[in-house]
Amino acid sequence: MAPPPGTLYLVATPIGNLEDITQRALRVLAEVDLIACEDTRHTRVLLDRYQIKTQTISYHEHNEQPRAAELCAMIESGASVAIVSDAGTPSINDPGYRVVRAAVERGLRVVPVPGAAAFVTALVASGLPTDEFYFGGFLPARMSARRSRFAEVRALGATLIFYEAPHRIAHSLADARAVLGEREAAVARELTKLHEEIVRGRLGELAARFDTEQAARGEMVLIIDRTPIEDQAANGGGVEASVAKRVADLENEGLDPRAALKRAARELGHSRDEAYRRLVAERGMLKD
Ligand code: SAM
Repeated sequence: MAPPPGTLYLVATPIGNLEDITQRALRVLAEVDLIACEDTRHTRVLLDRYQIKTQTISYHEHNEQPRAAELCAMIESGASVAIVSDAGTPSINDPGYRVVRAAVERGLRVVPVPGAAAFVTALVASGLPTDEFYFGGFLPARMSARRSRFAEVRALGATLIFYEAPHRIAHSLADARAVLGEREAAVARELTKLHEEIVRGRLGELAARFDTEQAARGEMVLIIDRTPIEDQAANGGGVEASVAKRVADLENEGLDPRAALKRAARELGHSRDEAYRRLVAERGMLKD
């Protein structure tokens, strides 16, 4: 009879402070047959801190494909394997996805062991709305691609979250302001570490604040409000995007009024009738 198949565990580890790990994560790491690490030396610091002696193996972006097959074969023969990355939740902008995919395709048991993820940690402390958000991972390094990414998410109506490298943060904040309009935002830096800092302000203010090498240091998450500040004012301080403003912008870009209304309705998630009703109401309000 075939031995019972093992399990693939995805174990979240701290994003800075080594105390940010669950009891369950520590137990799983101590009990599995093998821990596949993004960087074995990095993970060894955590394992040593908790006196975990489990064998480790490397699993990173350059060996993901062959390693995923090897790990799945081990799990099929009964071993239990934990995947960890250098920080936070594996597979979130870190290695992990390929082995999960391979395990799912082979019908193996996949068990998540949750814990820290930098984007959630940053969002909840940002002071920006948390009910609906978009996480875009790392922003593109090139300005044109970055601006296109911002344009794609401009009308989402959700809080926007991105990872960004310190040497690009000032440029990204300026690009965000150029494409998204002035918005409330936050930069969460070095979360859970000694120099943790959450800087809140308008995109323009933050771009100026992080325009020095001294200020722009460490690991960073960028969080941006869902609407420009002027739209919020047009809606009596609420967070809903203004149909009138979007229609006016689209008309300025050359669309005729019908096409502008149709596009604004689609972008803002309204039916055409609802968008028209709001347009009339907002224009009436603006005249007062
Ligand atoms: N797997 C991780 C997670 O669950 O968030 C993300 C790994 S990704 C390679 C690393 C990026 O996450 C950093 O460049 C930074 O944008 C963000 N990050 C990770 N740790 C952070 C921290 N302590 N403070 C702020 N941002 C952090």
